[in-house]
Amino acid sequence: MKKLLALLLPLAATTTFAQRNGDPKLTELWEPKAPIVTPGKTAADAPSDAMVLFDGRDLQQWESDKGGPAPWTVGDGAMTVKPQSGGIRTRQGFGDCQLHIEWRTPAVVKGEGQMRGNSGIFFMGRYELQVLDSYNNTTYSNGQAASMYKQHIPLANVSRPPGEWQSYDVIFTAPRFYEDGRVKSAARITVFHNGVLVQNNVEIWGQTQFIGVANYEKHADKAPLGLQDHGDPVSFRNIWIRPL
Ligand code: MG
Repeated sequence: MKKLLALLLPLAATTTFAQRNGDPKLTELWEPKAPIVTPGKTAADAPSDAMVLFDGRDLQQWESDKGGPAPWTVGDGAMTVKPQSGGIRTRQGFGDCQLHIEWRTPAVVKGEGQMRGNSGIFFMGRYELQVLDSYNNTTYSNGQAASMYKQHIPLANVSRPPGEWQSYDVIFTAPRFYEDGRVKSAARITVFHNGVLVQNNVEIWGQTQFIGVANYEKHADKAPLGLQDHGDPVSFRNIWIRPL
């Protein structure tokens, strides 16, 4: 054993010597070049390659869940759920993406638990990232703000008081399916709530369900992003997306 070590040690030393004195160019990659993107003034502002879904002025990029014009109200640079008018969705479909969205639950608190400032962001129209007034408002943990509804509890409750603007920054990876409908890879999501990591690349179990277990049903590579009408006048602003 000692003899073997005596033989190997100089060899190991030679390798280190070669690494130190080899050509560093051998490990440099010059192509492809990363595209140039001009960042926004702050991380909340849309970078140059983002698609702006709502800039505070109109609902051009949106339509009703049932088809036709989006029925929500626009004012003061925000769009607000018109309770009982139904959810809205983007006209365009998206798959893998980075999303920035700001939301505000009503300053006047009404109700409790799930009945307080409830809305939601539905990736591909199916996978809900919960929007809720979770400031001093207890509900089931996998249904609070920043939960993947009835699936993943957020790593922290980073909620601001009702009536204050809050943000989500999200990296969403769409699920992949085989031709026959089986899941090739599940959807994944990473979420920052007011800048704090709350979902760390978690695997989504399937389409969000109110009752029972989530499951996947094969769908297109791209599908509209949805916003929920849960009966509360929740507002949204500064929504931009970067398809990945
Ligand atoms: Mg909801």
